[in-house]
Amino acid sequence: MIEMQDVFKKYPNGVTAINGIDVRINQGEFVYVVGPSGAGKSTFIKMMYREEVPTSGTITMNGVNVAKIKNKKVPIFRRNLGVVFQDFKLLPTKTVYENVAFALEVIEAQPKFIKKRVMEVLDLVNLKHKARMLPTELSGGEQQRVSIARSIVNSPKIVIADEPTGNLDPETSWEIMNIFEEINNRGTTIVMATHNREIVNTIKHRVIAIEAGKIARDEQRGDYGYEN
Ligand code: ADP
Ligand code: ADP
Repeated sequence: MIEMQDVFKKYPNGVTAINGIDVRINQGEFVYVVGPSGAGKSTFIKMMYREEVPTSGTITMNGVNVAKIKNKKVPIFRRNLGVVFQDFKLLPTKTVYENVAFALEVIEAQPKFIKKRVMEVLDLVNLKHKARMLPTELSGGEQQRVSIARSIVNSPKIVIADEPTGNLDPETSWEIMNIFEEINNRGTTIVMATHNREIVNTIKHRVIAIEAGKIARDEQRGDYGYEN
């Protein structure tokens, strides 16, 4: 579960990106975060995986007060979260298999378990047959599928995605959404910032609209609500 109480974020340059947010997201929800460019969506999401720390207020992720996590403990905290980025952020010199296995190797999981689990998640994203390839040998959609496989390999309760279809064509974007749907159907909470109007208006979920650092709208099965 995710909870924000009276959260503000002011960057060192004086910009207030988040200007008083209270929100609660329950386990198993699928939430779209929408809003104009510069509204604060990325900042809102980055605070959830502790890429940014709030200036004031409390953010609780699965019972952990994110602001209180020491820098040294951030990697441990992130193990219980999946994060998916617009630009994939795969390790370019590692194969598909190695990119996904990496998160399990750092926690020193049993080699047998690693193999089984990596093939299981590659199967879920339909990329078992490309396990030996390098990211540069894959299409954008395939790279994003690898990054989704990597995000769930540790079985996190929450997956956070920042514009995951932002670099993909419409058809590939639908494929990626189907994978997120499947992950959500298995009980994982999904928080996804997106500018994809058609997806938000077709695959209905809760919509949180952020404008000028505040929640302007919070609707179950909401619409995208902007022209673009
Ligand atoms: P969105 O994701 O909705 O486009 P952001 O959270 O990226 O919005 O940005 C919100 C505001 O904070 C913008 O005015 C942006 O310029 C500013 N901002 C974002 N990141 C930083 C940063 N690291 N330092 C200073 N200002 C930032
Ligand atoms: P495009 O031809 O724009 O690349 P598609 O052929 O993938 O896109 O899809 C055509 C339309 O069918 C989409 O614009 C959308 O309205 C609908 N659609 C496709 N996939 C899905 C899906 N998984 N869930 C809901 N609607 C879908």
